[in-house]
Amino acid sequence: MAEFIMAAQNGRNIPTEDKIFGISRRANEMINEKGPDAVVNATIGTLLDDDGDLMVLSSVDDTYMGLEPEEYAAYAPIGGTPAYKKAAIKAALGKYEPKGYVEAVATPGGTGSIRNTIANYSCPGDKVLTSDWHWAPYRTITSEIGRSIDTYQLFTEDGQFNIEAFSKKVHEILEIQDRLVIIINTPAHNPTGYALSNEDWQQVVDCLSYVAPENRIALLVDAAYIDFAGDENKYREFLPILETLPANILPIIAYSMSKTFTIYGMRCGAMICLAPTREIAEEFKRVCEFSSRGTWSNSAKAGQSIIANIFADEELLKKVTQERKDIREMLLSRGKAFEEESIKAGLKIVPFDAGFFASIPCDNPDEISAKLEKKGIFLVPLAMGLRVSIASISEEKCRRIPAEIKRAMEE
Ligand code: PLP
Repeated sequence: MAEFIMAAQNGRNIPTEDKIFGISRRANEMINEKGPDAVVNATIGTLLDDDGDLMVLSSVDDTYMGLEPEEYAAYAPIGGTPAYKKAAIKAALGKYEPKGYVEAVATPGGTGSIRNTIANYSCPGDKVLTSDWHWAPYRTITSEIGRSIDTYQLFTEDGQFNIEAFSKKVHEILEIQDRLVIIINTPAHNPTGYALSNEDWQQVVDCLSYVAPENRIALLVDAAYIDFAGDENKYREFLPILETLPANILPIIAYSMSKTFTIYGMRCGAMICLAPTREIAEEFKRVCEFSSRGTWSNSAKAGQSIIANIFADEELLKKVTQERKDIREMLLSRGKAFEEESIKAGLKIVPFDAGFFASIPCDNPDEISAKLEKKGIFLVPLAMGLRVSIASISEEKCRRIPAEIKRAMEE
């Protein structure tokens, strides 16, 4: 390909500029020119306060500042420190006590868990299944390792989880390959804010229970936003449903410390299996650690030490949980405000429950986003619509923009 001078393309589609980065740069240029009140920068996927500054849990920050050199400068074991792995399982599963065999492997953020799951539970050339609305890096990760993404329609006409479309795709793909990695990003799905209900989960489990026992399926639950969806216990009620799956289907949780502990830049996460047998769990640990060694080697130790120290101190854990609850409530109010004003303005949004993002379905997202940019509203155009980061704008802005988006769509 002419575009490549020295580098190998290897089937990848590599753009010259990162789309979100470009939009965010233009938003910042306008902020410099016209001031922050004139601009809505709803592109950023991190929690910002009403003034646009990064929100960090102060109790987590204090824990970081108190680390000893041994806790951040030394190598961590390839699979993570034992205290971290224990803490990560606790953080991901909450009060749920699994019946099966649980193993955790430390990864650089949730992204590392996604990469390692795809690399170890699918073969080169395989398709990986996720929904039509999805986080774009799934495609990047699959193309990096010679796999590709296939999708099913996430919603029915009346906005329900589309179990028929899901089931059809699973069976279609299993006609051509023996194994399948399925990524379900829930709750607080990026980019829609959707969450699968327990009934939806039951349907997924029922569907997968009919898959031929010779097939091997890794069911990857991308739970990156689970602690910002609402009540932590309620949003973990689906976990026991996963444990009713047959032995040829392995549930893996991709858990990210990035959002839950506001340590995005620490690159801290874990992949956690809920295996039905000890052999499957031990194999999970062995193959995922091997893969880690061959990619990033060990994950950074500082984040692991922060999480381990928080879980070793009950009072500190309480403080972190309370602080998170406060910012979660702020986020939930922003989401509610955006949803309410969208209804008032007659703006159709994709079924939304909670989280960092909401989406607006439309046929010409690039065109509408360009129009909105002129008015100082910066959103992310996706293949199927526009993504609004409610995590990065104030409640007042969440209330203000639905009517303006609607207007831009009608102009
Ligand atoms: N999954 C989804 C849907 C995300 O949006 C993100 C981050 O934006 C991640 C996973 C992983 O994040 P990280 O690797 O920063 O932990």
